[in-house]
Amino acid sequence: MILYTLACDNGHTFDSWFANSAAYDKQVKGSLVTCPVCNSAKVEKALMAPRLSGTKKRAPVPIPATDAPAAAASTPAASATPAPVAMVSPQERELRAKLKELREHLTKNADYVGQKFPEEARKMHYGEIEHRSIYGEASSDQAKELHDEGIEFHPLPVLPDERN
Ligand SMILES: [Zn+2]
Repeated sequence: MILYTLACDNGHTFDSWFANSAAYDKQVKGSLVTCPVCNSAKVEKALMAPRLSGTKKRAPVPIPATDAPAAAASTPAASATPAPVAMVSPQERELRAKLKELREHLTKNADYVGQKFPEEARKMHYGEIEHRSIYGEASSDQAKELHDEGIEFHPLPVLPDERN
């Protein structure tokens, strides 16, 4: 494909694609190419160099150094590293609110036992101490051991903004 800039006898210029220069000759001589402005079929190549497909990219316009920061700031594509973003649906907002509620309920009504959680949970499981709600920390190994012993516990819900 080859792009020619054509001009009609009324002086309008327009671009038109042709399979090759022979196709251009054939179509123009057969009056198949008309000016999109005045419909004149008397067209010929304008006095411009033809541009080949794939080389349409224009040479970058040099921007004076003083204008560069303003130009960059106004162009979204030129902005810095992309930040993680999310669209939160109403259902997710609701879920998040429920998680927060659950977490608040747990932390308010349960005893914080910290790293003694596995020990305390085990004591309760084996009836050494009375059952109560507790929360604390357990490593993944400890969590696995508790699970293997059939001790039921749940990870405390973590809210997205608390992960840092
Ligand atoms: Zn015209």
